[in-house]
Amino acid sequence: MDIVRLKSYISDVIGEENIKEKVNMAEYSSFKAGGCADLLVIPRNMDQLRYLLYLLGGAPNDSCGCAKEGSAKCGGDETKDGCGSCCSKADISYMVIGNSSNLLVRDGGYRGVLIKLGGEFTDIKVQGQYIISGAAALLSKVSKAALEASLSGLEFASGIPGSLGGGTFMNAGAYGGELKERLYSVRYISKDGMTEALKYADELEFGYRHSTFCDTGDIITEVTLKLQKGEREEISSLMRELAAKRNSKQPVNLPSAGSTFKRPENNYAGALIENAGLKGLSVGGAQVSDLHAGFIVNKQDATAKDIISLMKLVQNIVYDKSGIMLEPEIRIIGEE
Ligand SMILES: Cc1cc2nc3c(=O)[nH]c(=O)nc-3n(C[C@H](O)[C@H](O)[C@H](O)COP(=O)(O)OP(=O)(O)OC[C@H]3O[C@@H](n4cnc5c(N)ncnc54)[C@H](O)[C@@H]3O)c2cc1C
Repeated sequence: MDIVRLKSYISDVIGEENIKEKVNMAEYSSFKAGGCADLLVIPRNMDQLRYLLYLLGGAPNDSCGCAKEGSAKCGGDETKDGCGSCCSKADISYMVIGNSSNLLVRDGGYRGVLIKLGGEFTDIKVQGQYIISGAAALLSKVSKAALEASLSGLEFASGIPGSLGGGTFMNAGAYGGELKERLYSVRYISKDGMTEALKYADELEFGYRHSTFCDTGDIITEVTLKLQKGEREEISSLMRELAAKRNSKQPVNLPSAGSTFKRPENNYAGALIENAGLKGLSVGGAQVSDLHAGFIVNKQDATAKDIISLMKLVQNIVYDKSGIMLEPEIRIIGEE
């Protein structure tokens, strides 16, 4: 099955308005750079997501009797009867994205389907000390819900521009806090759509900017956080204080994807880059921020290539000067 046929299969179920072809991902990305995705699909509830994943990656349909490729029945030829399903288990690449605040699509674009959860996946409920939220809810909105319910513990995340699903995937953190400390459980669906499960925080192999989802590609659909009862005014004042810190120390007025590189052990990427004299270094429209060397910013019309070339240059120079090879924190996908 190709993208055109996939689109025809999902249009009625997911709705034309939630299926976008040849989407310029620069419009979605916090970097405001990068290439197009063949298809961006926005499922709005679990049924739609299940159906999409079934078509993209589910198990072959036994009743068809076709072994996907080279089968005697259809020989992989979708135009023949009897192969509506298994041969249609597309060789289409796909992955879920969140708010694209830690993601860059190379200029050649993403050949396949990007799945962005919407609709019910943005719902947030508060139950006592717990917040139960769809994975697509923004961390800023989840933090606001915590504030409104006088729940403390999520203040550190209020300025992180990602979704709760993306934050859980990355174990996002700031100002001494990490999401794993507030996470109670996660509901997810496997990438092939065949398994739905709930896991508790201690089963998710959280580490620095890592969770088990980085290895499996499974899709986080709902997250439950456990917070503590607090004083509304104190929560609000800490959020304001952290926002002021962020605004003064980070280049928030220019597009970026936050910290470009992970923090190396016992060191800081920003300090290593600054000490190597690289603040302000540019490739095309991409620049190492003058304000915070840990950020690469899109100063003017940067292409993904500009950004990636600058990242490589920074890695090489920092390695020559310090012996430390910086590891990208930003996820880079798609074709050159
Ligand atoms: C100005 C700025 C400041 C930032 N500050 C911080 C900071 O202080 N701390 C910090 O940790 N990060 C920071 N970031 C980076 C970014 O916001 C976080 O990494 C965030 O968690 C990414 O979430 P997202 O929804 O944007 O994910 P995306 O960028 O869309 O995706 C990132 C990865 O998560 C995966 N993913 C997304 N949603 C799901 C899901 N539902 N299920 C499974 N996998 C999923 C994607 O497949 C992808 O591999 C900053 C970024 C910017 C632009």
